[in-house]
Amino acid sequence: MESIYLHSLNPNPNPNPLSRSTSGPWRSRFAPNLRSSNRLLRIRRPRSLAPPLALQRRSSDHDVVVVGAGIVGLAIARHLLLHCGLSVAVADAGVPCSGATGAGQGYVWMAHKTLGSDAWQLAVRSKQLWEEMADGVAREGLDPQHILGWKKTGSLLIGRSAEELTTLEERVKVFTEAGLRAEYLSSSSLSSMEPALEVGKEGGAAFLPDDCQLDAHQTVSFIEKRNKSFAPEGRYAEFYNDPAIGLLRSDRSGAIEAVQTSEKILYGKKAIVIAAGAWSGSLMRSFDVNAPDVPVKPRKGHLLVLENFNEIKLNHGLMEAGYIDHQVGTSSDSATADSEQTLLSISMTATIDAKGNLVLGSSRQFSGFCREVDESIIKRIWDRAGEFFPTLRTISLDSLRKRQIRIGHRPYMPDGKPVIGPVPGLPNILLATGHEGSGLSLALGTAEMVADMILGNSPVVDCTPFSIRGRF
Ligand SMILES: Cc1cc2nc3c(=O)[nH]c(=O)nc-3n(C[C@H](O)[C@H](O)[C@H](O)COP(=O)(O)OP(=O)(O)OC[C@H]3O[C@@H](n4cnc5c(N)ncnc54)[C@H](O)[C@@H]3O)c2cc1C
Repeated sequence: MESIYLHSLNPNPNPNPLSRSTSGPWRSRFAPNLRSSNRLLRIRRPRSLAPPLALQRRSSDHDVVVVGAGIVGLAIARHLLLHCGLSVAVADAGVPCSGATGAGQGYVWMAHKTLGSDAWQLAVRSKQLWEEMADGVAREGLDPQHILGWKKTGSLLIGRSAEELTTLEERVKVFTEAGLRAEYLSSSSLSSMEPALEVGKEGGAAFLPDDCQLDAHQTVSFIEKRNKSFAPEGRYAEFYNDPAIGLLRSDRSGAIEAVQTSEKILYGKKAIVIAAGAWSGSLMRSFDVNAPDVPVKPRKGHLLVLENFNEIKLNHGLMEAGYIDHQVGTSSDSATADSEQTLLSISMTATIDAKGNLVLGSSRQFSGFCREVDESIIKRIWDRAGEFFPTLRTISLDSLRKRQIRIGHRPYMPDGKPVIGPVPGLPNILLATGHEGSGLSLALGTAEMVADMILGNSPVVDCTPFSIRGRF
């Protein structure tokens, strides 16, 4: 094997939260591995040196290697497995759903997307692909709600000020012109549709009846199971609790030809896709391969899940209008912006998941990869929800027994759109990251785009806006 062994002097300069978290099935295996890898990799090898013999023996060949088993990485693997004959390996530092995906609320909505923005067409296509997946499940005689947590609830984007209502009316107009079903609701129509909600006489909403939601854990489990069904024919392999720590470059072609994980070398004949969510930037930097910087950073989110909560009933998915600014990172007034340093903001989102739990979101803040639960943020999420649902104001947060808190790090990009495509100077490597708060919604469109790039097909959606070239 002729290869240059590119390795990370410090594979974990921006510590992977997975190794720091206080819980998780991967912890016991991942942390020791990383420590021993650190020792191994701190010795800088001459560029022409091949990987250690023991690692060479533990190698496997694939057409495509995907780093990251979040919704984006698994969806890419799925698309390749279903639509061409290539073989795929997926490697993850933890297990599926241990990144942002596991925290996702699950809305696959157009309501808060902006028509004409770079990501609009990707969102439209992706939603169409989600609907096709749900239809496919139904055609197999299965219930998409049971299998994917799929529900076509419609969404309500709620405004409470004159300014917000003007924006919502405008949104409905442009959505309708673009062919989406959308309706502007006055305060009274809104109350009859959502009796638990109170927005005052001045309030109103944009209603998109075709918006849907899924359950991230159920959907990932479904995708993973399907991906695994290609394993017996040698087309699929997965390596979990096994972080990528280096890349191998071919001496002859100069192309990156393999990913080194803590335990294996995974050759990717056609492509290696980095879909490591908020870790993608630090991971690329740690590879020490002279690639353009990917300024993706973790944007922490808290979500409050109340199991079998029967005090209020919701008929649709709800989101306050201020979420739109909140998502792109401007310190809007509807979001309660704190210090400029962390830009903590809270926007009300409320959904009932397929199991009947009330899911209340959500916070956004820049605090590195910390996974600690901040109870003061949960209190603010609860209080914010109480501004919209009066019944909640009568219940103390401390009295809630059956509650779960989900924490995740959204892969935030400063210009508000994902990076999807090849990395200049690194033939064979593609990036698929930076979906911030829309990674579940955009996953299937992203997967199709990446697969088309690998296969040389013309893209269904223009991929130019997502290229990293000349962007930062
Ligand atoms: C509170 C919250 C609510 C959200 N709600 C929604 C929603 O309703 N709708 C929506 O569309 N989006 C939502 N999102 C956003 C969505 O969850 C993310 O955009 C999406 O999950 C990103 O997926 P990903 O696969 O890129 O990243 P991740 O899910 O973070 O996956 C990245 C994977 O890479 C792995 N990894 C890291 N380092 C390495 C390494 N060295 N080697 C191998 N693997 C590595 C990690 O273990 C992880 O499994 C929400 C996010 C949060 C936090």
